Amino acid sequence: MELTEKMTSAYLMGLEEKYGAHNYHPLPVVLSRGEGVYLWDVEGKRYYDFLSAYSAVNQGHCHPRIIQALIDQAKTLTLTSRAFYNDSLGPYEKYITEFFGYDKMLPMNTGAEGVETALKLCRKWAYHVKGIQESKAKVIVCEGNFHGRTITVISASTDPDAREGFGPYTPGFVVIPYNNIPALEKALEDPDVAGFLVEPIQGEAGVFVPDEGYLSSACRLCQSKNVLFIADEVQTGLARTGRMLACDHEDVRPDMIILGKALSGGAYPISAVLADDEVMLTIKPGQHGSTFGGNPLAAKVAVTSLQVLRDENLAENAQQMGQLFRSEMKKIPSDMIELVRGKGLLNAIVIKPKNGKEAWDVCLKMAENGVLAKPTHQHIIRFAPPLVITQEQILDAVQRIRESILSFA
Ligand code: PLP
Repeated sequence: MELTEKMTSAYLMGLEEKYGAHNYHPLPVVLSRGEGVYLWDVEGKRYYDFLSAYSAVNQGHCHPRIIQALIDQAKTLTLTSRAFYNDSLGPYEKYITEFFGYDKMLPMNTGAEGVETALKLCRKWAYHVKGIQESKAKVIVCEGNFHGRTITVISASTDPDAREGFGPYTPGFVVIPYNNIPALEKALEDPDVAGFLVEPIQGEAGVFVPDEGYLSSACRLCQSKNVLFIADEVQTGLARTGRMLACDHEDVRPDMIILGKALSGGAYPISAVLADDEVMLTIKPGQHGSTFGGNPLAAKVAVTSLQVLRDENLAENAQQMGQLFRSEMKKIPSDMIELVRGKGLLNAIVIKPKNGKEAWDVCLKMAENGVLAKPTHQHIIRFAPPLVITQEQILDAVQRIRESILSFA
């Protein structure tokens, strides 16, 4: 195959269509390079990235410090397996637990694995500490949740696309409405409930921001019932919403935190669960693990990714740029925009279809005008640029979004 001669977008999309599974429906853009907030396609056209790999590249594409850490460690030692110690994992564990204020961290790779790990820890804790009868433990989850794609995780989902045709499902979940404290209070009356797994903002569902006070009330209620409050911060964490963790907005300290995505700045799949000893030490040697979890490459990349978030004040920037973004978006004079919502740089608009044109058409037009974003759930477009974005870049991007939407007038 003569690859170099044929590397056009059309050719490359054709390859994916013919040889790849059809489990995604991408926008027709083929990307080949990234730097900061920008991406370039194979024809050399430049775009603002307003998806950031679903919030994995909070630090910006190919951040020089993160890439340098990756290269340096890749030349030295990549993987040893947890059958032995390595010289990078301990320092990483010390760094991340001090960073977030927890006793211990358990390293995994993907977000879904982080969630699975938290569920396993919660069940062990239920039987060994709380005293729930073996195999009876339940975890409360919320309607509209997104925690990943494994069988157990989709068993907690209410999204037909995520679930249908994949049964039988893992039992042990109780589903309640999101942002509904009375429903949580009622579900917590069941003595077999061990945990409440929640996204501080529902990202994939379309950036649903709960009422102020929801997280703190929920956390307090869980404490009063000796139930673990488990925050899935895979998408909302690591400065995305304007604080290091979205739970920080309400001074909530979860019993367990799940992190992923931007823990690597997009360089490598890295996830982690943070908890205190009472929970973490319920899992003993041989009871859980992963070949790649906690490898030296991941350890060095994760430490550097966290350092970059702090050194470059990315939470503060997300807070300020997010406010600017929402206020500028609200000025766009189009009845196609029903709603602008979000926190920090995790934002969305709800699109009212016009003359048969939907969110997908808006995203195609935006791509034409140099801004990449993707619809979620048909009528919602999420806007989540890398957190290194500047005021000038926000204003330029909003101008392009504005032109795109007004083209449907
Ligand atoms: N949890 C949340 C809140 C997410 O948004 C995602 C991914 O979008 C996941 C878990 C799953 O992460 P991964 O795709 O790395 O398995």
